Amino acid sequence: MLPVVNCNRCGQSVAVGSDTRYVTCAHCRTPLVVIRTDSSAFTDVAARQKELERVDSEWEEEKRREHSSRDKNGNWRTPDEFLEPAIGSGILVVFTFFALFVMMLRDRRYEGLPVLVLLVVPFGLMIADAVRKARRYWRAESRYRARRTAIEHRPPDVW
Ligand SMILES: [Zn+2]
Repeated sequence: MLPVVNCNRCGQSVAVGSDTRYVTCAHCRTPLVVIRTDSSAFTDVAARQKELERVDSEWEEEKRREHSSRDKNGNWRTPDEFLEPAIGSGILVVFTFFALFVMMLRDRRYEGLPVLVLLVVPFGLMIADAVRKARRYWRAESRYRARRTAIEHRPPDVW
């Protein structure tokens, strides 16, 4: 691996060992993290990496606390994962409703209609709730992404 990288803040070259992770720039005294890819190595301001780790772990915590529930097998799921089955069962219920309704029209017998409506309403509420929870989760996730992007784009000299 490259023995020399440049300071992310002042641009001066910094010598690093092949497995050095943290180094302080001798020129501007900025604590740096050495980031390696398959073909290159570069540095980032260590404070930025710490901030990113903090934002990531806060998001994981928020996700677990406010946006997760257990499925029937006991696994933690986010609300978007319940959306597809909810909409799937919703479509099935609507089709069944209309099939039964058409039969009522044909037979001109409407005694069962109130019962049918009473069975459909809870399904409608369940689907509306699933959509609401998923949208709330997506809004929170995009707030997290925006926070992360802002940190990634903050210039090195303001850390
Ligand atoms: Zn420097």
